[in-house]
Amino acid sequence: MSAKEEICPDCGASAMDNDARIITVGKDQATGDRVTVETWHHETCPAYTVQQILMEDGARRAKERDEQTKAVFPEIRARVKNAAAKSTDSPFAAALLELVEQQGADLGRFVTADQWVEVLERHFPPAGDGCPE
Ligand SMILES: [Zn+2]
Repeated sequence: MSAKEEICPDCGASAMDNDARIITVGKDQATGDRVTVETWHHETCPAYTVQQILMEDGARRAKERDEQTKAVFPEIRARVKNAAAKSTDSPFAAALLELVEQQGADLGRFVTADQWVEVLERHFPPAGDGCPE
């Protein structure tokens, strides 16, 4: 990852003369590489004010989504469990239930790709291992 520094076009703040420093991560349009961009602002800069509002709004929305997820997930988990109990011969139901259970064990993290592979390998083994296709 490379790093760039930018003088704010709105307030003209620099590394030597600023009230705030913002570091963002993005993609370099020319190379496609990830790049950090360091920009300075004065406290009265309109671009800085807009960035602050967007950041606070984003944080508020993320918190709301998190609370909503924690409120509805237990009921959805129970419905999946009930549905899977009626489909005991289905590898689809068993795999989905296992993935839901893994996610439900901790809603603060993602079920990782390697955990998905482990579950799906178990319920859908390669052909020749007696897996119905
Ligand atoms: Zn600025």
